[in-house]
Amino acid sequence: MNSFNYYQSTEIRFGCGRVNEIGEATSKIGKRCVLVTVPTFKAIKPVFDKVKESLSDAGVGFKHFDKVVPNPTTDSVTTGAEIAKDFKADVIIGIGGGSSMDTAKAIAVEATHKGTSWDYLFFRETQPTEKTLPVIAITTTSGTGSQVTQVAVVSNKKERRKSALYNSILYPKVSIIDPELMLTVPEHISASTGFDVFTHAFEAYLHKNTSPYIELIALEAIKLVIKYLPDVIKDGLDLNARTQMAWADTLAGLSIANAGVTLPHGIGMAVGGCCPHIMHGEALAATYPEFMRYTYSSAVDKFATLARLFDKNLVEISDSIAAEKSCDLFVNFLKEIKMYSSLKGLNVLETELEEIARKSMELPDYTNNPRVADIEEIKTILKNSYN
Ligand code: NAD
Repeated sequence: MNSFNYYQSTEIRFGCGRVNEIGEATSKIGKRCVLVTVPTFKAIKPVFDKVKESLSDAGVGFKHFDKVVPNPTTDSVTTGAEIAKDFKADVIIGIGGGSSMDTAKAIAVEATHKGTSWDYLFFRETQPTEKTLPVIAITTTSGTGSQVTQVAVVSNKKERRKSALYNSILYPKVSIIDPELMLTVPEHISASTGFDVFTHAFEAYLHKNTSPYIELIALEAIKLVIKYLPDVIKDGLDLNARTQMAWADTLAGLSIANAGVTLPHGIGMAVGGCCPHIMHGEALAATYPEFMRYTYSSAVDKFATLARLFDKNLVEISDSIAAEKSCDLFVNFLKEIKMYSSLKGLNVLETELEEIARKSMELPDYTNNPRVADIEEIKTILKNSYN
């Protein structure tokens, strides 16, 4: 067994009703916070109200910044950071899906450092310091795993680029995962975010830096997604299925925080940067079947394991046949959760594929895939994912 590290600094509070602990949890860290959310809408309002009541009861002051946008932009982070500075906030609370939690993390950096969040991307020499404000995450989707990661994904509209801050200082201090908050997530968003959980777990499992611990938790997350995401799609009010998906999301988040993601996320980020109307999970789903076909022969044992998670009857056949079968079984799963689509179906222009291919190689993720693609191979994956 190779040596490995595992690190996680977030206090995880998992379970139904735990959102009511936000006041007590925040008061241990600070006295003035900014709540970072999308604009209020009917389904989410009761969550925001509960959080505000709990904070008030605990004597914590707050300002509500409700201008988060999907595929969060650096402009929106700057607006939030100004509010945090003016209010002299000492804690930032992100409530929502990955977009809200990531905006909160980026605000925590920009409010305390020179320049903008874009100046602190993972590859820059200057990195966020201890001055970064503490972040508390309350996730309302299952999800991006952002509640337990050191990552904040941001988009720069001018550059048409999506990239990430990546630093241990960004692990949320506290993370509340309350499955009851997810009961209102609409079917398509449940499918898209739920599929993201699958990709995190599978890519961390395949990753060159995986470890026995990550394999253990990533495989558990994959099993849970295969079993419970279809149940969530059938009945969004199924609390047991929502709870299992929230747990899968958390395990998958812990997996990427310690191993990482591979080629599909490089491509998905490039698609999201060029086409911000596309949800992260949608971009991944449109390109995943081609990624699977491209990669399976370079990680036969792992793709065979996946095939047998989809279909227990495949124990008798050889690993190489099972690995090949995993690609079709995976497509069936995408159809079952209503996520089977193409880049054309997502309104990507064919003329943009070239630029997307180039940008797919800007993040180092693709180099951690069992089979490392060159630019021509990425173009082929994109072309085959187009129709
Ligand atoms: P999202 O945060 O954009 O939310 C999607 C939609 O769901 C929004 O319209 C939101 O209002 C709605 N929604 C959220 N909770 C709801 C609820 N309880 N009821 C009803 N509607 C609800 O989507 P996401 O997929 O969670 O996050 C995507 C972002 O996260 C992308 O930018 C992606 O790149 C990033 N990401 C970050 C990490 C990380 O580790 N930081 C990992 C993967 C992805």
